[in-house]
Amino acid sequence: MSEPLRFLNTLSRRTEPFEPIEPGHVRLYTCGPTVYDFAHIGNLRTFLFEDVLRRTLAASGHRVTQVMNLTDIDDKTIRGAAAEGISLRAYTDRYIEAFFADLDTLRVERAEHYPRATEFIPQMVELVERLSARGHTYVQDGSTYFRISTFPAYGRLSGIDPDQVRPGARVDSDEYEKEDVRDFVLWKAAKPGEPAWDSALGPGRPGWHLECSAMAMTLLGESLDIHTGGVDNIFPHHENEIAQSEAATGKPFVRTWLHAEHLIVEGQKMAKSLGNFFTLRDLLERGHDPVAIRYLLVSVPYRQKLNFTFDGLHAAAAGIERIGNTLRRLAYTPAATADGALAAADVDVAIAEFDAALADDLNTARSLGAVHSLLTRINQALDGAGIDAAARARVDAAFARVAAVLDIVPVRAGRSAEDEAIDALVAERTAARKGKDFARSDAIRAELAARGIILDDTPHGTVWHRKS
Ligand SMILES: [Zn+2]
Repeated sequence: MSEPLRFLNTLSRRTEPFEPIEPGHVRLYTCGPTVYDFAHIGNLRTFLFEDVLRRTLAASGHRVTQVMNLTDIDDKTIRGAAAEGISLRAYTDRYIEAFFADLDTLRVERAEHYPRATEFIPQMVELVERLSARGHTYVQDGSTYFRISTFPAYGRLSGIDPDQVRPGARVDSDEYEKEDVRDFVLWKAAKPGEPAWDSALGPGRPGWHLECSAMAMTLLGESLDIHTGGVDNIFPHHENEIAQSEAATGKPFVRTWLHAEHLIVEGQKMAKSLGNFFTLRDLLERGHDPVAIRYLLVSVPYRQKLNFTFDGLHAAAAGIERIGNTLRRLAYTPAATADGALAAADVDVAIAEFDAALADDLNTARSLGAVHSLLTRINQALDGAGIDAAARARVDAAFARVAAVLDIVPVRAGRSAEDEAIDALVAERTAARKGKDFARSDAIRAELAARGIILDDTPHGTVWHRKS
């Protein structure tokens, strides 16, 4: 991608050209899941935005070091483990495993690091000690709090007015409302029935906000290029991360903050009580294709609310099918020998438009528009004089780019062992038919049908596809 990247930075509220601190290397921190339940599709929308971000950075020539934390200790995980009467580790292991399974199903690339909060307790304690040494904390009833009045920049990210902070008022819960700006807890005193660590701060456990600051700075350094999350992380979570980190180091914590908007379902807020709350499993059980789910969740630019509807999911499935059908049709049509009906230069224009859309604060809707315009041109050319080898090579490059960044091409580059086995059987059937061994050719067709593989005998050979 030659287009320079631009992002709308939540901190400056402006669209800015992107340049990493270290040329060519992006340090990216993404708030990961709190592993107390299965991720819902709103969470997954944010993780997919971060996947497209990561892939866009890579496609534009950057090396990416991404850290995604796993919050395996906070109010919610402790409550969940206690309700089931099992250890925090056993409880969170279950949801960490499920989380990675969901990422794989949705083709999300792995980050470089997935730190578990419970494995970074010494670094968290050390960060609180640094804050204490600089006069930003106080202790009350065995818990250590961050004193907001010592950090004048508090509120810059979320637009909170720091004057509304009542000095000395404290909050102990990990999550609270915007109206509730108070000194927040860094280290919580041990309570009966809760896990606790012995430390220089006394027996206790970290607050959720502290976890991210400590893991981000340990693994990525004191100043990061990009920090992402959902809009509901802006306050208090990210505001508190900035306060803790910058008060300790005296350096800017993050250059660019990116936040994904909410997902709503059929126009309503997603809520278990409304019966419109979906995990990935719920959708797979209803028979929806994971690639279509990915397509739908990436199709709306991350800064816009995404209205998830089942009509939208069917439309996404149709979009995927259109890509698959066009690529299959292309694969089984010999290249035009004379000049084809599609110019290689026109394909390059489509690739440039795809790249330009993503470079524009990840405008995925516009990039998908470029993909569909190209599909139309390809089909028109195949209906007419065909596509010559030079244009074919550019089309292959275009879909390699689409697969690398949006990853919504139904058949992935690099064929599976099963695909190879099917190809071998199809080739054997073709040979059997040539040799008039119809018993064998029918047996192969039946065997493939039993595996959900449909064969179409075309003038250019036999084409197969999976039954949808
Ligand atoms: Zn976080």
